[in-house]
Amino acid sequence: MTRTPPPDAESRRAVRPVICYPTETLPQPPLDLYAASLAAATHAETVRVPPREARAVEIPAGSFLRIRSVEGPQVGDLNLFARDDLSERFYSGKTRALHGTHLTTGDRLWSGFPHLRPMATVVEDTLEWYGIDAFGGSVHDVIGTRCDPYTGRLLNGTDYHHCCHSNLTRALSEARGLPPHEAEMHVHDVLNVFMCTGFTRDTGQYFMKASPVRPGDHLTLFAEIDLLALLSACPGGDCGSEHSSDTAPCHPLDMEVWAASPPEGWAPPERNGYDRSHGT
Ligand SMILES: [Zn+2]
Repeated sequence: MTRTPPPDAESRRAVRPVICYPTETLPQPPLDLYAASLAAATHAETVRVPPREARAVEIPAGSFLRIRSVEGPQVGDLNLFARDDLSERFYSGKTRALHGTHLTTGDRLWSGFPHLRPMATVVEDTLEWYGIDAFGGSVHDVIGTRCDPYTGRLLNGTDYHHCCHSNLTRALSEARGLPPHEAEMHVHDVLNVFMCTGFTRDTGQYFMKASPVRPGDHLTLFAEIDLLALLSACPGGDCGSEHSSDTAPCHPLDMEVWAASPPEGWAPPERNGYDRSHGT
């Protein structure tokens, strides 16, 4: 049943929005120092992520992780952990609340409570030119979750074992020697690297469209703390048609680690200072 709008509906709709979390007081990353450090960085290792699989790599604090498109358009699903503490992991929801729906140069990837500190900072994004398109789409989102076999079963009644959730589970299981069921509990909502997404204006539904990424494009992160990164080459490929199947053409992704001298005056950020008394 459609309800009749109240007489003052238009004036209620016309109330201007306010930004939930103004970021003027957020400490700004020293991007100039990071850029200088990156310019002098040396290549340490490359881990190639095969299509429809995930791989792990460790990045020491003060070094860089560059995720590179190779061979063809491909989306990657990224999980981040503190290298020595799996309980500290990337918090896409708070990152979204602070920086918006899509990340680019200067934005940070924050860890969850009670840590809430920058785990990494985006220092290079070759897709920064894309901006926000006519559909409201943009790249590198923190609005999706990760493709997973549970939603496939819910919607289609079928099982597919190479969704990003399962790929990340296997990669963490192998990297840390955990049984898959235990590793799965640490897998979390991702940064959708290179993925082009938004919400439809008429129905508010999550949409994806073919990524503008091309071989050579890359996203470079500065590691603010010692990191364990997991990256899945999504079975959706460029995510222009469907995921959760073997239908889409898929390509590998490279994770390059670049070693660098930490920037002058930089130190890994402290954990959040709240005393955790919660009013008790
Ligand atoms: Zn995926």
